[in-house]
Amino acid sequence: MRLMNQQLMHIGLDDTDSTRKGCTTYVAALLVEKLEQLNVRFLDYPNLIRLNPNVPWKTRGNGALCLRIKHDLGLEDKIKEIAISLVEEHSDLGFKGTDPGIVFCKNAEVPEEIRAFAKNAITGIVTLKEATRLIKKFGGEALGFKACRGIIGALAAVGETLEEDHTFELIAYRLPENCGLKRKVDAASIFEMDELTRPYTFNNVDSEKGRVIITPRGPDPILFGVRGETPEIVKKAYGMIKPLEPVERWVVFRTNQGTDAHLKRVNALNQVKPYSSIVAKGVVSRNPRIIPLRHVIFSVKDESGEVDCAAYEPTGALRKVARDLIVGDRVEVYGAVRKPSAGKPLTINLEKISILALAPKLMPQNPVCEKCGKRLKSMGKSKGFRCEKCGTRFDDAEKVQTVVERELKPGLYVTSTRSQRHLTKPLRRYGLEKHGAEAEGMIENWHSP
Ligand SMILES: [Zn+2]
Repeated sequence: MRLMNQQLMHIGLDDTDSTRKGCTTYVAALLVEKLEQLNVRFLDYPNLIRLNPNVPWKTRGNGALCLRIKHDLGLEDKIKEIAISLVEEHSDLGFKGTDPGIVFCKNAEVPEEIRAFAKNAITGIVTLKEATRLIKKFGGEALGFKACRGIIGALAAVGETLEEDHTFELIAYRLPENCGLKRKVDAASIFEMDELTRPYTFNNVDSEKGRVIITPRGPDPILFGVRGETPEIVKKAYGMIKPLEPVERWVVFRTNQGTDAHLKRVNALNQVKPYSSIVAKGVVSRNPRIIPLRHVIFSVKDESGEVDCAAYEPTGALRKVARDLIVGDRVEVYGAVRKPSAGKPLTINLEKISILALAPKLMPQNPVCEKCGKRLKSMGKSKGFRCEKCGTRFDDAEKVQTVVERELKPGLYVTSTRSQRHLTKPLRRYGLEKHGAEAEGMIENWHSP
């Protein structure tokens, strides 16, 4: 029987790109083509796993890739050789801080410890030492270039099997000779696609600024990427977009983008740790203050501690919400915890805020006439009040604290589309999450011919 001579392989890739060139998803797309030529069977769409966006030495998207395949035993060496040479050829090895890594795991089931490692790489900080220990323990193989840091992400991509919530992204690539030039895609077709496929696609356009956001800006080979709930919808959306330059190839990825996978719930504010991304409840303890560049800062506390929260100018609507908070409001804050500066409290860079309960807002107002109920008129500072209707004077009356209506309403507020992280779950996805969903079969034609 042929099956006896087959084995599984998970190929993890990470950190081939730099700010000046490349993209690891593109290396994965090239590898898909080469593996198809060898007639291997794909067990899943290529997985695009976004890791902790709050790692200090990572400035870009921090995405790692994993291909999961079944192949004839005799092909193992050939497959590894192809993967290694593609990474070598397409990595920006001359760039400081680009440290590619490849991991091969032949376990039929991804070991629990590697899954746990992946969760930690998405929510916190993991080490290369821990990665290599696990690779050794489970008989995997790893190849790293330069500082080998990419091995961490490569193993994390192997370990994140996306059994919980996940989304899809169809990425279309440019011809190599066009990389670095202005991207040419018909913007109107993207707005139209968004209209026709919502809510099943997301992060296509920024409605606040009326801007297309599916096209990246860097010199990387991505022309655009469409994100959505199913492979079918991203393919359909792709068909609606009019590129005005050639598409070299496209691939559908399964991903943890838009799932909030990076956020870890903490039960007490003293458990908030730098470099992680958290969700925590608290009460506003210092009114918002506007700092230069129109950023808004306020403080939140619970019985265990106090943290600052920052809503930066590009967060748009979120910044406006933050500005309207007052001491006593009960909130749930979501965001990345910044490294603290000496003597300062930890600061959470807000991605979302949920207003749970509003405190009554008091404003000093003139008292009301005892006889006719009309609000009195002030006679000047410390000179008492007078009723304009009946003429009665109230020489000793003082201003009274009155509850005024809040403009802010309880609910969940998310940072503007343009400042959302890859992992941030957009409002549009609420209610569409996939939990413990049975793995469905793959669609045919999940990549360009
Ligand atoms: Zn009166």
